[in-house]
Amino acid sequence: MPDLRGRILDEVDQLRDEMISFLGDFLRIPTVNPPGDAYEECAHFLGDHLEQHDFAVEYFAAEGRPEHTTDHPRVNVVGARVGEGAGSVVHINGHFDVVPAGEGWTTDPFGGEVKNNRIYGRGSCDMKGGLAAGIFAFEALRRAGARLAGTVEVSGTVDEESGGFAGVAWLAEHGRFASDRIDHVIIPEPLNVDRICVGHRGVYWFEIVTKGRIAHGCMPFLGVSAIDHMGAILEAIRTELQPALAERITAMPVVPDGARHSTLNVNAVVGGQPADGIQSPCVADRCHAVFDRRFLLEEGFEATKEEIVELLKRTAARVPDLDYELSDQMIVHPVRAPEGSPLVASLQRSISEVLETDADIVASPGTYDQKHFARIAGVEDCVAYGPGILELAHQPDEYCDLDDLVNSTKVMALTTLELAGTA
Ligand SMILES: [Zn+2]
Repeated sequence: MPDLRGRILDEVDQLRDEMISFLGDFLRIPTVNPPGDAYEECAHFLGDHLEQHDFAVEYFAAEGRPEHTTDHPRVNVVGARVGEGAGSVVHINGHFDVVPAGEGWTTDPFGGEVKNNRIYGRGSCDMKGGLAAGIFAFEALRRAGARLAGTVEVSGTVDEESGGFAGVAWLAEHGRFASDRIDHVIIPEPLNVDRICVGHRGVYWFEIVTKGRIAHGCMPFLGVSAIDHMGAILEAIRTELQPALAERITAMPVVPDGARHSTLNVNAVVGGQPADGIQSPCVADRCHAVFDRRFLLEEGFEATKEEIVELLKRTAARVPDLDYELSDQMIVHPVRAPEGSPLVASLQRSISEVLETDADIVASPGTYDQKHFARIAGVEDCVAYGPGILELAHQPDEYCDLDDLVNSTKVMALTTLELAGTA
């Protein structure tokens, strides 16, 4: 008879078809965000499954959050299977919201179709596939008869794609996710099956409004164009700021390579009259732009903002009548799992056992719910590890490779066994 680790790996193989069928059903629930469709249905789909597999299940509606409405209730689900001893609490968290399907699909984005050893659908990669792997990792432990000392928990949460404020942040603020209740957190975001993601860069979303003076469009010299002034700011960003950002590089192992640098994206520029309406001849008196600045751990938020403030001052000093307002939209500080993280060490061992390769340690170009676990709940031993391929997230024909799905399940099962320990 194989030892416990061997039995667990066998059980994952036995569970393959069951897991694929579960993931297909999961993908067919269109939890599109925005606006946040079918969350309650999806929370209960997960909760019912967990209850049938010996988990005690709790539901958490994000009371008090403005986005938690009658039409689009924000409902999270947490399942716990209590350990038989005094081992560490291992928590697997995944968001079940998905971004809109968008154009360009050759399969049904909400069909969960299986072909070519892949399962297709919006969320298969980011990250219903990963959450399914986490759930079945715990199931494989149960079927193998592992008597864990520590408690295992799994949560399905909402709104990660729009900041996670009614999801992980809400559960952390209300004490359900806290450092005295949870020791290690795996978030199976799509960072590839052989990579462990230890953290992410920071985010500074800000908006700039320029204000001009309206005049007749046949005599624009009598007015002040807010669009021209936004153009001056955009030009300063392109010629002064962006070259400086491209020079900076972080010591964090952010992938892909381009994202090891500081970056800035212009999300939107809107000025003057609506372009699709009836036009009248007017000088634009208002222009509004939104920016997405990703900053490095080494830069920090204060210096990042100060650099924007100084750039605007310099531009205003050379452009007559430039009237602008800067405001913050969202600030996310960079996070990184601590050096010597037991979770990282255990995942490295499990990956080399299951995949017979050394794990790459990476950091994510984008942010995800690790920030809320680390900064609000105080659970620092948190990483992202999951089966999806990073570059497929949010793309048309998103899929999850079925072997990656099974292998990541094995990795999470072995790591849970190590960290929770046996009774
Ligand atoms: Zn995600």
